[in-house]
Amino acid sequence: MESQSVTEINGVGPALAEKLVELNINCVEDLLYTFPTRYDHFQVSTLDQLSHDQKATIEGEIINEAIVTFYGKKKSRLTVPLRVGQVVVKGVMFNRAFAKKHLQVGEKVTVTGKWDQHRQQITIENYKVGEINQEQSIQPIYLLKQTIKSAQFSKIVRQGLAQFASVIDEILPKEYLTAYKLLDRATALTEIHFPKDFASLKQAKRRLIYEELLLFQLKMQALRKHNRERTNGNAQLYDLKLVQAFIEQLPFTLTEAQQQALKQIHDDMRSPHRMHRLLQGDVGSGKTVIAAIALYSSVTAGKQGAIMVPTEILAEQHFQSLQQLFNGLVHVELLTGSIKAKHKREILANLENGQINIVVGTHALIQDDVNFANLGTVIVDEQHRFGVNQRKVLREKGIDPDVLFMTATPIPRTLAITSYGDMDVSVIDQMPAGRRQIETFWVKESMLPRILTFIEKEIAKGHQAYVVTPLIEESDKLDIQNAVDLFHNLQGLLAPDIKLGLLHGRLTNEEKEAVMRSFTENEIQLLIATTVVEVGVNVPNATVMVIYDAERFGLAQLHQLRGRVGRGNAQSYCILIADPKGEIGKERMRIMTETSNGFELAEQDLKLRGPGDFFGHKQSGLPEFKLADLVHDYRTLETARRDAANIIFENRLAQNPDYARLKQHIDFVQKQKTNGFD
Ligand code: ADP
Ligand code: MG
Repeated sequence: MESQSVTEINGVGPALAEKLVELNINCVEDLLYTFPTRYDHFQVSTLDQLSHDQKATIEGEIINEAIVTFYGKKKSRLTVPLRVGQVVVKGVMFNRAFAKKHLQVGEKVTVTGKWDQHRQQITIENYKVGEINQEQSIQPIYLLKQTIKSAQFSKIVRQGLAQFASVIDEILPKEYLTAYKLLDRATALTEIHFPKDFASLKQAKRRLIYEELLLFQLKMQALRKHNRERTNGNAQLYDLKLVQAFIEQLPFTLTEAQQQALKQIHDDMRSPHRMHRLLQGDVGSGKTVIAAIALYSSVTAGKQGAIMVPTEILAEQHFQSLQQLFNGLVHVELLTGSIKAKHKREILANLENGQINIVVGTHALIQDDVNFANLGTVIVDEQHRFGVNQRKVLREKGIDPDVLFMTATPIPRTLAITSYGDMDVSVIDQMPAGRRQIETFWVKESMLPRILTFIEKEIAKGHQAYVVTPLIEESDKLDIQNAVDLFHNLQGLLAPDIKLGLLHGRLTNEEKEAVMRSFTENEIQLLIATTVVEVGVNVPNATVMVIYDAERFGLAQLHQLRGRVGRGNAQSYCILIADPKGEIGKERMRIMTETSNGFELAEQDLKLRGPGDFFGHKQSGLPEFKLADLVHDYRTLETARRDAANIIFENRLAQNPDYARLKQHIDFVQKQKTNGFD
């Protein structure tokens, strides 16, 4: 089926084949894997079951020739009388004059359309001549960019199945077919195009969705295995006693989730495999400490560690936290673009001769002039802010160091295992004990005076506040609060001794850093900002986060913004100003006020917005599935991932004859697609 050209199907000549190629359909397999977009269901009703203005399907006999009248420029109206039971009704069809020749007197016809009770008339959207039997009552509809009409395509598929169904062989291993009671491939492909009934359509889909997800996960798991096995001998034999002593002198005990993540990281480090792991954890869940322990472990193994972050401010913050945590135990340095040349030369020399144990930095870390003596572990924070290449360059500075990616953007598990499917994933899904919850309110803009009074009170207590707006520029179409305007407005409304700062994407990096520094040092008490404050900014003295037009943000983003407060000991507050029009928008605001767990929010967001929208933009790298739906089919996805991991890591493809056909299929797909199977 993979090797049979569509031209082998009777009725497919060169012209039609060309159209099929336009749709990326070359072989019979491509054809059969082009699934219907939807199905029309001819469930025939009797007249007394119909209600006015509702869509219905009725069956009748044509008792007179259809009459076509033309009007307007190219418009036509076809009328055909049908006997339905004992009653004659009128069938009306617009702009399909050609249908007349199909509608012969005496023929049975099934029509679907809107029923007009008063006129006893049906406006036909769809018709089918001849008696329909149960088997044809569900009609596949293919939407193919107007290249080929649905009916014609359906015919080709039917013919393709007639000729080739017998050579469709199974690719899934028997044990899974049996275990999950899946339809065999030929039956599933037949049923998805021409379902007997809805139950069997469902079974066909179930089988094909599993197949789709398994094939995808096999690719991911193969990549993962490849990543792990690329190097032999980067085992970092850290000194467990020293590491434990370090953990014990911390001012707190690690949460269970932290311990679990650390264990997974340690296992990777100790093994000769290269670590390629994503550490997910809500803001404040304690990822940085885990990163510090990992880096320290590396140092006790006689290696160096590096941590790379997207901004200078973050680098400085991490540098300070690490210095505090290590308290002279190891030699930590900061390397950013604004380090003075002389100092920088010194740092570079000491990285190269191994005197520096741990370096924190921005992309300055990946410049050509940076060389490490013995880089063991690389940590990349807020990894989605870096391009793949930047990460690769840093990795290549060591001899395949262990790499840990960290993100505070909770990603629903289904998305994590699809878009980061080639990584191992650790999750810190638990907050250190005793954290205060950030109180979250949802208000209308008319409450602004009260919000301002509240901000003034918090600032009077010595605290600071953020006000965030979605966009910096005025837009006529979108009634969005403009950060610049807001800055001027609020300046006029707040007590004069309160200093305001403005932060947005149009500022240069230096300007941004300057504003942030003033805020960090409490020279500015109220920061008006666009979403540039979203990531990693840590000002523990800030207790109020006001978000304008909150309905314009996704839940994950709102949660990130909210995470900018509640970082100190004082009670913190998040105020969402929003007037969402739709139910979903309202629901999202409600969820925000009720849920503080980032993973829970992420799952809810995924359900509300769907996987395509979850990451906001295209760069998400989410694969497009033909049938599978990541929200709906997450259980199947989990199952497929587990099965794929077993198949790949136990090397069954190469060694087990039951998997030979699967392997052959994968090899074939790989040959066809450039981004193939690894
Ligand atoms: P993240 O990097 O995940 O946002 P951090 O590592 O910065 O979180 O931790 C936030 C704060 O919580 C820090 O002040 C840190 O010292 C503290 N912390 C981390 N782990 C624990 C713990 N197990 N118990 C109490 N406090 C902790
Ligand atoms: Mg290792």
